[in-house]
Amino acid sequence: SDGPDDMPQEIWDKVKNHPCYSEEAHHHYARMHVAVAPACNIQCNYCNRKYDCSNESRPGVVSQKLTPEQAVKKVVAVASEIPQMTVLGIAGPGDALANPAKTFETFRMLQEQAPDIKLCLSTNGLALPDYVDEICKYNVDHVTITINMVDPAVGEKIYPWIFWNHKRVTGYEAAKVLHERQMLGLEMLTARGVLTKINSVLIPGINDEHLMEVNREVKKRGAFLHNIMPLISEAEHGTVFGLTGQRGPTASELKAVQDACMGGANLMRHCRQCRADAVGLLGEDRSEEFTLDKLEQMD
Ligand code: SF4
Ligand code: SF4
Repeated sequence: SDGPDDMPQEIWDKVKNHPCYSEEAHHHYARMHVAVAPACNIQCNYCNRKYDCSNESRPGVVSQKLTPEQAVKKVVAVASEIPQMTVLGIAGPGDALANPAKTFETFRMLQEQAPDIKLCLSTNGLALPDYVDEICKYNVDHVTITINMVDPAVGEKIYPWIFWNHKRVTGYEAAKVLHERQMLGLEMLTARGVLTKINSVLIPGINDEHLMEVNREVKKRGAFLHNIMPLISEAEHGTVFGLTGQRGPTASELKAVQDACMGGANLMRHCRQCRADAVGLLGEDRSEEFTLDKLEQMD
């Protein structure tokens, strides 16, 4: 069947059964996330560390953290209950690659115990160039990088600090390092043939006008999809943006930026910003059926 916009056929053939990438597949195939990655190596102004990484998840959600062993047990249990489960992702609650031992131990065990399940991970990109070899070694199919800027002058309004070379780096310098690592990581993944999607959080007044440039730069480096997500800035979601009174975009502001980026990297519009322990078809959440205590009872 036809892919979205101008997506090349060979990429579409790879992603059409992936619920996150195909509008059609997301009604038939299920995905799950396992929350094995608690730490993070940067600070985003829109992040509240009490909750899941808001680069991939809807803010205000707290996932149950798992060890790699618990995660694998959960994946195997879910796969036997939900046969349409085709994709396993690591998307937090912090950054998958700021917890490399846990992330890759989970992938290693899954390759042995459930080799048919496709693997994906999401990251802010800071550590990405260091782990491209391991990503390829475990046949990770898809990587998502959150890229909110390609200009450190914009970036320093979004990222107060990064943890880099064993120390905290702040300001313009921090945003510059993050930007360079994100671009390098994207280029390395593309060169190795790993499908790479970009998430951007639309922050009105900060990067709204800048996201078209982000779209151009990531497309140029081979990203196959660009997903523009709204900043969700509501007290009840636990969001505390570092800049006073920062609001999220309206639906029409979001659509205007998405429309302005059409014809660039293909845009993904049905991402649901799932929690770090999401289970099931997109739009349904069966995570409550597979909590740790319920898994223990399955023994
Ligand atoms: Fe929070 Fe995710 Fe940003 Fe880390 S990358 S600070 S977990 S939103
Ligand atoms: Fe897919 Fe988006 Fe949900 Fe990740 S957050 S599983 S990309 S729909």
